[in-house]
This record gives sequence, C-alpha cells and structure tokens, in this order.
Amino acid sequence: MKICVLVKEVPDAAVTKRIDPSTGRMDRSGEKNLNPYDTHAIEAAMQLKEGGEVEVEEIVAVSMGPASAVRALHKAVSLGADRSVHLSDDALAGSDVAATGYALASAIKAESPDLVLLGQQSDDGECYTIGAVVAEHLGMPSLTQVVKMDVEGSGVKCERQAEYGYDTVQVTFPAVISVGDAINEPRYPSLKAIMGAKKKPLETKSVGDASIDVSMVGADGSQVQCGEFKAPPQKAAGQIIEDEDTNETVEKIVAWLDERKLI
Ligand SMILES: Cc1cc2nc3c(=O)[nH]c(=O)nc-3n(C[C@H](O)[C@H](O)[C@H](O)COP(=O)(O)OP(=O)(O)OC[C@H]3O[C@@H](n4cnc5c(N)ncnc54)[C@H](O)[C@@H]3O)c2cc1C
Repeated sequence: MKICVLVKEVPDAAVTKRIDPSTGRMDRSGEKNLNPYDTHAIEAAMQLKEGGEVEVEEIVAVSMGPASAVRALHKAVSLGADRSVHLSDDALAGSDVAATGYALASAIKAESPDLVLLGQQSDDGECYTIGAVVAEHLGMPSLTQVVKMDVEGSGVKCERQAEYGYDTVQVTFPAVISVGDAINEPRYPSLKAIMGAKKKPLETKSVGDASIDVSMVGADGSQVQCGEFKAPPQKAAGQIIEDEDTNETVEKIVAWLDERKLI
C-alpha cells in the first residue's frame, strides 16, 4: 500500500495572523511551521505502517506552497514519511480552496496512492474542505473527522466524530481520509531523523510536471473574490479584582455580573 499525506506550511502559532489589505491574502511573513493538524495524519500513516495489519510500502508527504514549504516537508519526513513531493509554481499563487484541491489532486494522481491522509484543518485558512475537494478530483470516497481507523480486508473501518456522537463507516481503498486531532498523539522526531530528513528524496513539481490546467489555478482560476477586510474592534481592558478577602471578592464579582444582568 502507498499512502500520500498532505501537509501544509502555516504561520507559527505564535505569529499574529493578519490579512494583507493590498492583496486580500493572508500575510505569510514571519516564522512558519508544519501545520500541527497534519502531524496527526503523518502519525496515523505511521501507525498503519507499524501496525502490521496491512503492508505499507511507502509514505509520501505532499505539499503545495512556496519555496519555504520545503521545511514543512523535511519535518514530515523527520516524523516518518519516506519521501516528499513539493508542488511549487508562481502560477499557483492566489489559488482558492477549489483551485488548491484541484492542484493537489493533480500532483497526487501520479503517485496512484491507495490512501490519502490529511489533517482536519489548516491552522491558517481553517476551511476544513481540502479533503473533499481532493477526493472529488481523484474520484475517491471522502471521509472527514476520522478519529479511529481499523484496516479490514480491502478497506478500513473508521469512526467519525460527529456532533451527536460517532459514525462508524466502512470504506474500501483507495480513499481520502481527513483525520481529527483526537485520533492519536503525534510522536516527536528523533535528532537522527531530523538530521537525516534533508537527505530523503524530495521531488519539486511545477504546474506542467503535474499536468495542471493553469486556467483552473492561481488568482485568475479562482472563483472566490475577497472583499474588504477589517480588523475586529479592540476589546476594552478587563477589570482586575485583587483577592484580599475571598468573601469580598465573591461579592464584587456577583455585583459586577448582576449590574450587567448576566445572573
Ligand atoms: C482568494 C484566495 C486567494 C488565496 N491565495 C493564497 C495564496 O496565494 N497562497 C496560499 O498559500 N493560500 C492562498 N489562499 C488560501 C488557500 O486557498 C487555502 O489555504 C487552501 O485552499 C487550503 O485551505 P485551508 O488552508 O483552509 O485548508 P483546510 O481545508 O482547512 O485544510 C485541511 C487539510 O488539507 C491539507 N492542505 C491544505 N492546504 C494544503 C496545501 N497547500 N498543501 C498540502 N496540503 C494542504 C492539510 O492536510 C490540511 O490539514 C487563498 C484563498 C483565497 C480565498
């Protein structure tokens, strides 16, 4: 079995996210990192490989992004992927979700994977949709929010976290599965794996290499038009009550809530 894991480079959690008003796109300057949600997808692939229920020949990390996205791919390899594919081309800049999903699916097609795993959401765009778009273009079933996977015969039995409880769904390979962050506890990469990651094969693909129709990607190939962005209004500073006498503090809090008709 071959597993492709989709991984994205996102601004580090400590970086304040803002939209660049001149482009209408997210300002991607500053420290970047591998999308934390994608580490769960890599871990899920590793657990399938190590679990022994199915023979996993290869785990391939795939990312679409600028040159800096190579670091996210190195991290994915240090966490267990065998090699990586970097889809990078100026023609892809400004792609919306539909265009991004189409481009990623085009790059994945050449790999003919049995399973495509991805995170539930990116830490920047948070669209939760790439899995479904990729699956549609690959003509594969799509499962989202999967928190348990058990290989059974020629497919996998999955538990999906839903608002009302859990769905149990059986799907046959090939399939696209986005995993919820409750599925596992991702491992930390060893120092040896971090050092060795840069030596693992990394293939860089342009739109031409991936047979991508350029009229379907980039700003011109995207249907979404972003309008005006405004920063949310500044919040008023909170009131700090020093706790010198707990009974008095409780009274002050209750009076504060009562004044605002919150209790
Ligand atoms: C008008 C417009 C212009 C945009 N321009 C740009 C731009 O120039 N540059 C840019 O980077 N983004 C751009 N975006 C954002 C881009 O469309 C989204 O980041 C992308 O579609 C994925 O959506 P998401 O990050 O919310 O993914 P989600 O659906 O929340 O992600 C789910 C999972 O999909 C996988 N995934 C998502 N994106 C990638 C990726 N790129 N590579 C590999 N795996 C991935 C990850 O496993 C992730 O956990 C633009 C969006 C719009 C609306």
